[in-house]
Order: sequence, then C-alpha cells, then structure tokens
Amino acid sequence: MACIFCQIINKEAPAEIVYEDEKIIAFKDIHPVAPVHILVVPKRHIDSVEDLKEKDRELAGRLILVAKEVAQQFSINKSGYKLVFNVGRGGGQIIDHIHLHLIGGWKKNAIRS
Ligand code: 5GP
Ligand code: ZN
Repeated sequence: MACIFCQIINKEAPAEIVYEDEKIIAFKDIHPVAPVHILVVPKRHIDSVEDLKEKDRELAGRLILVAKEVAQQFSINKSGYKLVFNVGRGGGQIIDHIHLHLIGGWKKNAIRS
C-alpha cells in the first residue's frame, strides 16, 4: 500500500490542499502545532532528506520556494515563520515521505525553545 502522503497526492486520501503543481503539493497538517501548519511535499516519493541525490537539487530547492509562496498565501510572510525538515526517527520524522513543515501565524513573536 502506498504511503499516506502518496495516497493524498493520488487523491486516494483526503487533505486540505492549498497548493499544487506538476511536481509539488502542499496541504494542511492534520495535527497543526501553530495557526498555520502546512506540509510541502514532492509528488515523487522520496523517503527523507537523507535520500536526496544530486539530481534532486532542483526539486529540493523548489520545496523552499513553494513554502515561501504558501507563506505569502497565508499572509505570514511578513510576520515570519519556521521551515522544518524532520529527518529520521531521531529527528522526529514519522512519515517516511519527505516533507517540509511551514509553521507560523502566531499572534506574537514565536518564543525560542
Ligand atoms: P513528521 O513528524 O514526519 O515530520 O511529520 C509528519 C506530519 O504529518 C505530522 O505533523 C502529522 O500531523 C502529519 N500527518 C500525518 N498523517 C497525516 C494525514 O493523513 N494527513 C495530513 N494532512 N497530515 C498528516
Ligand atoms: Zn509516499
């Protein structure tokens, strides 16, 4: 069975999609940790940052640029936001389909932890 993010990409599982192009999709995280919590995901299944190859350079860069675009869409580009890749179990990665977390929308400045 395809991974849950591949299922979302293939429209076999529901998600609140906020951005989509030929290579990348972005949808709302099901358990948001902030007022805005979006996952930016390449449509091609790659397990994690650890599996990125030199040939994926453009795709990896696009993830950041799409995150930036979605931040604008949600009007958090001015207030600021976090972009996070969790890598591997030790890095907090639960879903083994590479994704970039776009997190923001707090009322005040995010408190550093
Ligand atoms: P990770 O810990 O792997 O970096 O992040 C996985 C994220 O995916 C978590 O924040 C989790 O809430 C989210 N997530 C897991 N399953 C689903 C799902 O079926 N739909 C959506 N929209 N988000 C999911
Ligand atoms: Zn997948």
